[in-house]
Amino acid sequence: MVDNHSADHDTECLRVLGEALNHLSGGFADLPSTQSAENPDALSEILNNVAERMRDNFPYQHPFYLGQMLKPPHPVASLAYALAMAINPNNHAMDGGRASSQMEKEAVRQIARMVGWESALGHLCGGGTIANLEALWVAREVNQHAPVFASSQAHYTHERCCQLLGVPFHSVPCDNSGRMDVQRLEEMLDGSSQATIVVTLGTTGLGVVDPLDQVLELRDRVPCRIHVDAAYGGYFRLAKNLEPATKRQFSLMQEADSIVIDPHKHGLQPYGCGCVLFRDPAVARVYKHDSPYTYFTSDDLHLGEISFECSRPGASAVALWATLQRFPLTVDGEFAQGLESSRTAATLLSDWIDQSPDFVRIVDPELDIVVWSVAADSAKESSMLAERFFHEAAKRNVHLAMLQVPKALAEVARPDLKWDRDTLVCLRACLMKPEHQEWLPRILEVLDSCRRDLFQDRSH
Ligand SMILES: *Cc1c(COP(=O)(O)O)cnc(C)c1O
Repeated sequence: MVDNHSADHDTECLRVLGEALNHLSGGFADLPSTQSAENPDALSEILNNVAERMRDNFPYQHPFYLGQMLKPPHPVASLAYALAMAINPNNHAMDGGRASSQMEKEAVRQIARMVGWESALGHLCGGGTIANLEALWVAREVNQHAPVFASSQAHYTHERCCQLLGVPFHSVPCDNSGRMDVQRLEEMLDGSSQATIVVTLGTTGLGVVDPLDQVLELRDRVPCRIHVDAAYGGYFRLAKNLEPATKRQFSLMQEADSIVIDPHKHGLQPYGCGCVLFRDPAVARVYKHDSPYTYFTSDDLHLGEISFECSRPGASAVALWATLQRFPLTVDGEFAQGLESSRTAATLLSDWIDQSPDFVRIVDPELDIVVWSVAADSAKESSMLAERFFHEAAKRNVHLAMLQVPKALAEVARPDLKWDRDTLVCLRACLMKPEHQEWLPRILEVLDSCRRDLFQDRSH
């Protein structure tokens, strides 16, 4: 069992939380006291049962876990969330969550500033799916039900959102590296000037960045609405060690009409924290409603008037606000350095793959995701060996993911393969944790031992 767990650290965190809870309850000291009838000791058995059940998980919190996109929340986020739960505010409206609504506005403003917007409209929501749905809904309303175009590597949520919205969806082919092929997009648009283009900055599978610069040039010729899905990659705008072409796409984000960034992906937040931003605050008109249930004490446009969801956890906003106090979104700050070290970890893993005769990399890692395949004669054999490698590494506590890469994409990296199936099972690592760089030598040691044990008898 991997042991990174420090009970002392947990105890210290709970002490800090206890102090803050006391401070918070002091604000309500003039109310008659209410004693909870619940005996905490009686909950112990249930909580231990929960702990037992939760041991079933992969160790998402540990640097040895590099499979799916899971990054643990920072303690400041978890503690602030727990603190807010003493109140359980609802950010649907000012009256349900006063301070937390204000904190949401402040936190969202900081994310908007990070992408270069001073007066954007935006708010938090349940996650990238809802955030993208909202952006595509607003696009539908201001863009006369125009069709949506997204690359074949875009998140599948876009196609599903379009089904919900009753808007036509078109999948645009990718180039050899998994980026949207903008020439093909232009052919598909065929001069029609009503379209919404989804540009993904950091695709979920391969972690590659669509050419926003080319889509912006296209917009000069063929007017269209541009939505940037940066649910995963958005914060990389702060990283200094990207390739120049990648950096360029992030530096152009402010030219889009709407942007989605998930604080619960790379922003150190518990799940349930997405963010949608609109460059033109006037799109607030799309949300307009006259609910008799909403509140009238705030002069300001309250969050319930500019968000699709109604009840939302104020605790999410509190956690994000607290995290931004600890990690301001600055180019040279500690948070940006964490992203840079993730990126460095990805290039180190990529170098290791390139040096190994047993592996073939699929694309150049652009952010912190690496996808690679196993050397073999056929796609079937390569896929089978990737699966074996995945299980062997998991046995030794290093957790990768498997990804089905379509033949059209994998073929470029693997012209050597006999293609006896339509997809290639590849190995994938998300090096999202800031400590992944420091841990990489130990991770590579484990991967190397798997490689030797599984592949030593093969001739190349
Ligand atoms: C994760 C992701 C989504 C979906 O977001 P959820 O928070 O999982 O709902 C959408 N787009 C991209 C690019 C993503 O990485």
